[in-house]
Amino acid sequence: MACYARWVYHGRPAGGPPAPGATAPKPRAPRPRVIPDRCRHGHALDATNLRFDGNGVRYCRACRYVIEKTYNERQFTYRHDGHDVIPTRDGRRYCRTCNRGEQDVDAVVVERVVSGDRPARVSAAELEAAVVQLRLHQYPYSLIADRAGCSVRHAWWICDRVGITSTREVGA
Ligand SMILES: [Zn+2]
Ligand SMILES: [Zn+2]
Repeated sequence: MACYARWVYHGRPAGGPPAPGATAPKPRAPRPRVIPDRCRHGHALDATNLRFDGNGVRYCRACRYVIEKTYNERQFTYRHDGHDVIPTRDGRRYCRTCNRGEQDVDAVVVERVVSGDRPARVSAAELEAAVVQLRLHQYPYSLIADRAGCSVRHAWWICDRVGITSTREVGA
């Protein structure tokens, strides 16, 4: 299409089309590069704020930071919808549900911990599920702690939180 447009514009030469490279390239005036003082959101485009990406296109560093932060926060909200999210001391958000692994408790891992074949990686939620199961089997805390790979105090604390520390509530 571009070739055809050039033929129409320049006319059809008698000797056929010129060989490639025979015609001089069209002169192009270099566009003056004007960089404004401020970006469209009012940030000063000075030495620290003015940046260029890999294609040589300028961007405002402050604006890009805002864009990325907004994007990340929206992704966080989407990913942890319905989770137990708490604010940290420095103003970020922290998901307790995902950190404890409550969303993906592997039943096989729990089963292995209960049977005494503890895998190398056990999440906090899986450990608690295994401890509760062992407690419901009426095992002593020393054995529970040994199989779960935690301290006796921690095993007791897990059972205390669920409310099955006394044998009466276990159903003995
Ligand atoms: Zn800006
Ligand atoms: Zn989460």
